[in-house]
Amino acid sequence: MTDRPGARPDSGADRALLLTFDDRHVREWAAAAPLFTSYGARVTFFICEPDRLDRDEVRLLRRLADDGHTIGCHGLRHERAPEFVAAHGAGAYLDQEVVPALDGLRRLGFPSRNFAYPCSARDESTDRLLLTLFERLRGGVPVDRRADPTLAAELHVPAGDISSRRVLLGCSVDSGRGTVAYEDDLTGVDAALRRTAEHGGATTLYAHSVAYAHEANHEANHVTPARLEKLLALADGMSLPCVGFDELP
Ligand SMILES: [Zn+2]
Repeated sequence: MTDRPGARPDSGADRALLLTFDDRHVREWAAAAPLFTSYGARVTFFICEPDRLDRDEVRLLRRLADDGHTIGCHGLRHERAPEFVAAHGAGAYLDQEVVPALDGLRRLGFPSRNFAYPCSARDESTDRLLLTLFERLRGGVPVDRRADPTLAAELHVPAGDISSRRVLLGCSVDSGRGTVAYEDDLTGVDAALRRTAEHGGATTLYAHSVAYAHEANHEANHVTPARLEKLLALADGMSLPCVGFDELP
């Protein structure tokens, strides 16, 4: 874990695509590892339910970490932060949902410095609370914004702001869920990547599973391998490095 052969310390400093994947789709992510490697891309995997990973998944996740990918935290039971805090209090949220997830990951050999909000549900008070435990938090913009070219201004973090920006909003690039296909228009995402490549800075995107096994009927939120490759090729063509959250300054 301490050895990160793929890491290039200079690459995440001032321009980056931050591609992230949520939940616990370790086998599908491992299947995508050769694709990431072929583009020199390092990504971030935000893990929920670390106590439910089987031995094989832990082994695969360790290999992903050894490839230089970042392992982050996504909660113990995928609870929505504001709702949990409203119902049970901030202390209970940390004690029951966040600290056990963080400890579970640490026990498996994945000390995590970053957190992604389940369902992107957050507010300023949960940000303040979680920033006592994490360096950075990932939220999200509404998925229906991704076709909107003005999204670029919202997603793009200017280079000078990267080191101080603790909450990064991402946009979904999932292709669909089950047999339901999402809106295919990623104009806003493309515009954000172009803006980032042109001016420096960072843009954050997120997906869930990568639909290798049952592409036409994948139960979870998923991105197709074809779309994933298209995004990696787009960033690569713009000389925009794809780096993990742990590589940010
Ligand atoms: Zn999630």
